[in-house]
Amino acid sequence: PDVGKKREILSLKIRCPNFVDGCTWQNELREKEVHLKTCGFVTVPCELDCGEFVLRKNITNHVDTVCPMVSSCEYKDSGCYFKGTKLQLDNHMAQSANMHLSLEMKSEIFKIKKEFDQKLTAKDLEAQEMKNKFAEQLKMRDNEIGKVRLDLDGDLKAKDKMIRALAERLKIAEEKLKGVDAMEIKV
Ligand SMILES: [Zn+2]
Ligand SMILES: [Zn+2]
Ligand SMILES: [Zn+2]
Repeated sequence: PDVGKKREILSLKIRCPNFVDGCTWQNELREKEVHLKTCGFVTVPCELDCGEFVLRKNITNHVDTVCPMVSSCEYKDSGCYFKGTKLQLDNHMAQSANMHLSLEMKSEIFKIKKEFDQKLTAKDLEAQEMKNKFAEQLKMRDNEIGKVRLDLDGDLKAKDKMIRALAERLKIAEEKLKGVDAMEIKV
């Protein structure tokens, strides 16, 4: 009789004890223990024994990002993104010497190339600046020459005028002289 009662109880539908934390699991009471072994909302110690406790569903993220037992390869800056426990890192270092060397060389070459590009850009800018300065000076020179030419033109015109005035006066003087000559002839 009790067996039937027990089976009845075990068949009761229940929610996960962690439903307040967000677990949506629902099933018969008899499945509860099995579920709790995998329930993501159970707090468990870090699997790498760092001493922290996290929700089971967050374990992967913990290990990947914050667990102090996991660190990055020392060639991270050269482009090796391996992460692992101390033991895994030791193995990694032993196995990846060649890869690390080539990564280091690549990163060195990249650095030199970048530096070179920067210097080249600087030189380009310098050359452009000199060109601009030169063009400016040329323009100034042009302006000066233009001004001198204008002055000269003005000068020439003034001289022209003067010469014409002189010629006019000369003509008048000649006329007068002719008049005087004619008078003398008459006399
Ligand atoms: Zn659960
Ligand atoms: Zn940890
Ligand atoms: Zn590495």
